[in-house]
Amino acid sequence: MNAAGISDRVRAAGVVGAGGAGFPTHVKLSARAEIYLVNGAECEPLLKVDQQLAAKYAADLARGLALAMESTGAREGIVALKAKYAPAIEALTPLLPDNVRLHILKDVYPAGDEVVSIWMATGRRVPPGGIPLDIGVVVSNVQTLINVARAVDSGAPVTHRTLTVSGAVAAPLTVTVPVGTALREVVSLAGGPTVAPAAYINGGPMMGRLLDSLDEPVTKTTGGIIALPEKHLLIQRRRRSMRAELSIARTTCEQCRLCTELCPRHIIGHELPPHLIVRAVNYNSVGQPSVLLSALTCSECALCEAWSCPVGISPMRINRSLKTQFRASGGKYAGTLRSADPIAAHRLVPVSRLIPRLGLGDYDRKAPLDETPCRPGRVALKLRQHLGAPAKAVVAAGERVRLGQLVAEIAEGALGARIHASIDGVVDSVDAEAIHLLASREPDQNSGERGKNEAGK
Ligand code: SF4
Ligand code: SF4
Repeated sequence: MNAAGISDRVRAAGVVGAGGAGFPTHVKLSARAEIYLVNGAECEPLLKVDQQLAAKYAADLARGLALAMESTGAREGIVALKAKYAPAIEALTPLLPDNVRLHILKDVYPAGDEVVSIWMATGRRVPPGGIPLDIGVVVSNVQTLINVARAVDSGAPVTHRTLTVSGAVAAPLTVTVPVGTALREVVSLAGGPTVAPAAYINGGPMMGRLLDSLDEPVTKTTGGIIALPEKHLLIQRRRRSMRAELSIARTTCEQCRLCTELCPRHIIGHELPPHLIVRAVNYNSVGQPSVLLSALTCSECALCEAWSCPVGISPMRINRSLKTQFRASGGKYAGTLRSADPIAAHRLVPVSRLIPRLGLGDYDRKAPLDETPCRPGRVALKLRQHLGAPAKAVVAAGERVRLGQLVAEIAEGALGARIHASIDGVVDSVDAEAIHLLASREPDQNSGERGKNEAGK
């Protein structure tokens, strides 16, 4: 199959970057690249999705990479994994052709930030404000490429998502559920919370977002749900108002520079100096205008907040706030790449030390992959679960739909991704946010399936 054929099938299947960004994959596959990198770092503590999928579906992953290389013309493929993902390494090694190599990453945070992964696996550095393609590299995560293989070889659309449920739950696990399943049902699959009151993070403990409600549905980019006691540091920090954040920064920043010296972007040669940004915001002044604009190049990895700052300031939150302001006003960062810190490789943070610092030592448990079919009674398919324009519903209330049927389309030429029914059922309603489907049948109690009678209790 030629490049256009591969990209067309991936577009038809609604494949998006499963690592969190949700960039439509068919657009990536339409580019020309030298290197295709599989980012299997999964460095967020507690999440255990990609490492298990890479072991169990190694053939699909290798096939997805081969198709991606074919589509982009990449001459070299790299699969970046950590040494501790031994089952994945063992399963993949015999499947890789001569032009694909394994790269063993150190168990550090944030090895999964694609700018850092590229630097660790290839030695190339993405310029600040740039994208991997600027240096001839395209990056995809493990689940994305498995979806690519299934889309191209069997025409299978993306209808399910594998995610980890961990933290303060009875039995942490990694499950595959229909897209649109309520997070409440997914938490129930892990035996429910073991603390009260519990709060939940959507994603990993470093970069994940505090959930307002467990009624939110799983999307194509939901990598995990972490339950924690309401009073846990990671929850309280996320509840802090921006006003309180700025007040803490103004009264306690001692300009020790640790946030800058350990910033993963700064150490590989980006200008981004969080200590100077904090100072500029604190005193409402800035020497070099580019200093403030460099906030646009912050990855929001949260290392400065959770690890570096000795007095509890969050330069990351300040950067995020500045990014919102600059994006609204059309601000652009134009700085160039500088020299990397000669000991940059030694400045990244071992995950084994990060976990206790985050107060997650008691929650760092196995979350085995459990693929017992899950059949929720209803799903909510969000129309925006990708970068770009929201998809437009092509079904109406009362219509019957089958698993895999197209229910939302993207306009010709627009950036976006199609959406497909994740269950057999009937359209209950369509609103500006989502298509709501009701399952057409109760789960079969004798088949070992999970359904609303069990998971929705
Ligand atoms: S969140 Fe902090 S450590 Fe991470 S890139 Fe931004 S400034 Fe650097
Ligand atoms: S690490 Fe904290 S105290 Fe030190 S310069 Fe950065 S924000 Fe200020």
